[in-house]
Amino acid sequence: MEKGVSLERALEIALESPFHRKTELIGLEDAAGRLLARDLASKVDDPRFDNSAMDGWAVRKDDCNDTGTVLRIVGTSQAGSSTTTTVGKGEACSIMTGAPLPEGADAIVMIEDSTEEGESVTINGPARPDYIRKKGENLERGVTALLAGTLLTPAAVSLAATMGHSEVEVVSKPKIAVIAVGDELVPPGETLGEAEIFESNTYGIAAMIRKMGGAPERFELIQDTIELLRDTLDEAAKSCDAIITSGGVSMGKWDIVRSIMEDEGEVGFWRVMMRPGGPPLFGTWKGTPIFGLPGNPVSSHVVFTVLVSEWISRCMEADQAMGPRLSNRVRVIMQEPLKGAPGKLCMRRISIRQEGESLVGSTSTHQGSGNIHSMVAHNGLSLLPPGTDSKEGETIDALWLF
Ligand code: AMP
Ligand code: MG
Repeated sequence: MEKGVSLERALEIALESPFHRKTELIGLEDAAGRLLARDLASKVDDPRFDNSAMDGWAVRKDDCNDTGTVLRIVGTSQAGSSTTTTVGKGEACSIMTGAPLPEGADAIVMIEDSTEEGESVTINGPARPDYIRKKGENLERGVTALLAGTLLTPAAVSLAATMGHSEVEVVSKPKIAVIAVGDELVPPGETLGEAEIFESNTYGIAAMIRKMGGAPERFELIQDTIELLRDTLDEAAKSCDAIITSGGVSMGKWDIVRSIMEDEGEVGFWRVMMRPGGPPLFGTWKGTPIFGLPGNPVSSHVVFTVLVSEWISRCMEADQAMGPRLSNRVRVIMQEPLKGAPGKLCMRRISIRQEGESLVGSTSTHQGSGNIHSMVAHNGLSLLPPGTDSKEGETIDALWLF
């Protein structure tokens, strides 16, 4: 077991015990938000044939060098019907956006630049070859346009359909157990005893798992009892791909997740040199990977955001740039000084916004690791290297959360 590791090292250790990635074939209508498991190649040329980008006239460019040219109308090309018309010298064919280009034509005149009168049309504007969309100019048949590991955004789903796929193979949603531990915790909505608080972490953690493309399974709250915890971990290890616990990983006497993992599980690391979120652990319980997150609400959210989400993404074999993420790394000019942490990567909650040419950052609420409101009132995290403060006006690395 390694103690007090850097964030990078923590990820490395966790990646030595990934969950087993499965895949499944699903209908395209259900594919948005899923991670593509296999490269997708186009079954067609896009466009399939030369067609018009405008409603107007298919013409020969050389006929239209002078404004006021009058051309004889020889037919119509409509989207969805094949055309047999040929455009000869001095002729024009009426054409709609997306309709096949008739033979002989090499340019399009927009309808706005013409006057139609009976059998003929007067051309008042330019005849443009670039209003023709060429066969295969977007994608040629057989080209792989969607790579395995891509998050299927609405545009990616449209592209898959354009390429002729009605089904896609995606990464199955990993089932991840979420377990909260603590005698003081009561589900929200129930009556609180004197020293009790509402349990909140499992809701936030489950929401982040869902955002990463996973399927969270919230277990019943458990008291600080080793026997209960052991049974729950056993059940979770059997039914889920990975386990996330909240609470009970610090130094205290009642920090039973840490103690049971030390005695009966396999621990890869304990404690990461970061603030907030110092005490997490990672290991395996009966072969199933397990993250023990700290109970403080900000700590558990931050550890998930910077570590667990990255691990899930890698286990799912997401493309680093195209896969699901919870944040984006940016450079931010701080509008006020920020205090760092000795020996630890310091992630203060900051608000990031665009001002002129730059991104600027500021803080508003109390920064305590128990204050989940600070994660709502802000939309970013500073990435102050260990032992570094930042001054007002200094540019720092930060994570922009989404
Ligand atoms: P622990 O990590 O168990 O020492 O808990 C640290 C702090 O976080 C304590 O103040 C706990 O009451 C609080 N806490 C622990 N688990 C949760 C939870 N699931 N939801 C909200 N607060 C929690
Ligand atoms: Mg506790």
